[in-house]
Formats: sequence, structure tokens, C-alpha cells
Amino acid sequence: MNLDEIEQEAQYLLVEYSNYVQAITVPPIPVDKIADLYLELEILYEALDADTSGSIDLNKGLIKINQNEPLKRQRFSMGHEMGHYRLHRSEFDFQTLLLPIFIEEATIICRKNDASRREMEANVFSAALIMPIGFVESVFQNEIRKFPKKVSEQLIVGILAGKFDVSKDAMSYRLKNLGCFERLKQSDLFDIPTNLF
Ligand SMILES: [Zn+2]
Repeated sequence: MNLDEIEQEAQYLLVEYSNYVQAITVPPIPVDKIADLYLELEILYEALDADTSGSIDLNKGLIKINQNEPLKRQRFSMGHEMGHYRLHRSEFDFQTLLLPIFIEEATIICRKNDASRREMEANVFSAALIMPIGFVESVFQNEIRKFPKKVSEQLIVGILAGKFDVSKDAMSYRLKNLGCFERLKQSDLFDIPTNLF
């Protein structure tokens, strides 16, 4: 799957949730509710191994989130596990058809240092789900307009991270991928003096 297709899949999930459960009009995206109320997945918050952010048992529809991680990280993990559910379930269905023994083994354990294709895809899905392109671009434009002259990237990243309830790192990466800052004229950016805070 390419990045655009994954982005599209995340959009579909948001539209489905908005149509069948509750319209999402402003961030932050209610990731727990999407998993619980729409996808009807069971969610457990547990103390998992330090290198593990979460896991999903695709047969039982059970997500586990590492409760020892920061809350914003847990939200990202929830989006990541839903990514596996939406993008990768069919891989396991196929295995189950061939060898019923796999029924007990349809669990994906998500470790932080795992750079496999499946883990990367779930990360892309989560970013697209909790920082939807349309919301990010409109909030970004609104915030930029609030500053009469120039504003630092760091400040805007912090404001958007707060609104979307994600880490600054996640928002910074997302804004970079969407090219938001690049579209601004270079002259719109500068570092605000720290004594303003
Ligand atoms: Zn994963």
C-alpha cells in the first residue's frame, strides 16, 4: 500500500465514525471512541514490556495499550492498532483459511524499534487518523493568521500538538510531511523571543 492509499483508509474510518456514531467537527480525534463504539474493539490498558507500545489480537478484536507510556503516545498507539485492524486483518484471514492453527496466532505485538513494513504502515495510518489532513491544514492556517507578522515553527507545532492532543514530535513530523511550513513564505517565519512566554 502506498502512502496515499493509507491516508485514504484513515479518512474512510473518520467518515464512517462521523456517519454512524458522531460527527467529528473539531480536534482532538476521539481515538478511544472510534475503537470502542464504532469498531467495537475491546481495549485494555496494561503495563506491557518497555519496548512494546501496544498489541492487537485480530481474532478477538482486543487491543492492549502500554499504560506506562505518556497519554499522547497512548493515543498514537491506539491509532496504530486500528491501522493494523483496518489494513492488515485480511493477511491473517488468509492465513487462517489455509491453516486453522493460525487462529490462535493473529496477534501483532508492536515494538518501538520494529521497522517492518507493517509497523510503518500502521504508523502512517495513525498519523493520518489523529491528525487528519483537512483539520491540520485548516487549524494551521487559522493559527498562522492569528499572528500579525511572523511566527516560529516551534510555537505553531506546540499549539497544534495541544489542539490535536499529540506529541510535538508527531505534529512536527506531520506538518513536515504535509508541507505546511514550506508553503508559507520564508519571510513569515522567525523565532519569537522567549520573554514573550
Ligand atoms: Zn504495530
